[in-house]
Amino acid sequence: MLRRKLFSAVSWRAESRATGLSIEDGQLLRERCGRMMAWGRAHDCLPDIEHRAAILCFHNVVDHRPDPEVEADVLHVDRFRGLLRVLRRSFNVVSLAEIVAAVRDRAPLPPRAIAITFDDGYVTNHTVAAPVLDEFHMPWSSFLPAKLVDSAGRQWIDDLYLLIHRGSRRRIEFRWDDREFAFDLDTAVGRREAVFTIREACRYLPETLRQERMSRVFGLYSRDELETLRDRFRDFAPLTWSQARALQAGGVDVGSHSLSHIALGPQPAEVIRHELTAARALLRKHLGDHSPHFSYPYGRQASFSPETERQLIAMGYHCAVTLEQAAIDCRNQNLLQLPRLIVSPHTGRILFGLWQRFIR
Ligand SMILES: [Zn+2]
Repeated sequence: MLRRKLFSAVSWRAESRATGLSIEDGQLLRERCGRMMAWGRAHDCLPDIEHRAAILCFHNVVDHRPDPEVEADVLHVDRFRGLLRVLRRSFNVVSLAEIVAAVRDRAPLPPRAIAITFDDGYVTNHTVAAPVLDEFHMPWSSFLPAKLVDSAGRQWIDDLYLLIHRGSRRRIEFRWDDREFAFDLDTAVGRREAVFTIREACRYLPETLRQERMSRVFGLYSRDELETLRDRFRDFAPLTWSQARALQAGGVDVGSHSLSHIALGPQPAEVIRHELTAARALLRKHLGDHSPHFSYPYGRQASFSPETERQLIAMGYHCAVTLEQAAIDCRNQNLLQLPRLIVSPHTGRILFGLWQRFIR
């Protein structure tokens, strides 16, 4: 109890200091505080609040030193293991289905329940993450953008990172609608700004417009250049169906992350229907019976709508997960908008965030 009070005081002080700093400095402080708390086993003394749960969202876990620019968001396997050790010691890792049952049927859930999910179906789900999760005997879910599985394709955002950060151009200029855009790519700051601006201007667009805009950017590079970069960064490749089947056979809950990984909210109803039904048809064809859980691409408010919820319910899905950064209150939770916490490469931040969300 004394330890809980002590760590609580430290964490609230850190949080109030962090909110007064720049975003980057604030995150650095939370990261350091979270790692210190893990080292001091702070999470062991969290209270037993039974209606509180959280779902973590992972993407790419790799076992090599990531290229700091292109792979700024991928998690190293050593840090992944470190985080799982804290989860094993201080939390109860449950399946997503158990959280659904706790919300829907008021089924009992252990205190400090955490579910593990992976989005985007990277090959590293199978090659890096799965063996570690097996070793820890932890249940998890993997959400696949069905059309990308077993294809030579990649997510357009990953290709954008490769081209802007490691492509040959030092400057790019293009027109969208009637506006001129120009970015100097000589410095890492300039490259980051280009990726950020292009990504944010495109990801929540109707699909036809997004494709048109992206063709202006991708058209500045040759196909060969993109293929060479893809070859150099193989961890962004998708799983094969045979790997997805192996995951499912090993007990992983394998579900849909739409057909082509587009934000569903802004799309017309027939595009949403196609994204959902064609994805399910592919999953059925290759996996047979699969997960009744769905994950919205990009996961923020603009990724879903009353129409996506209506269609998911009509198709019999049990839940849909977002990336709204919150914990779950099982007594009062829309199952078609289950929030998840994104795990960044800085795992101290998620440990800090988990403490803050489970302490009250
Ligand atoms: Zn995704």
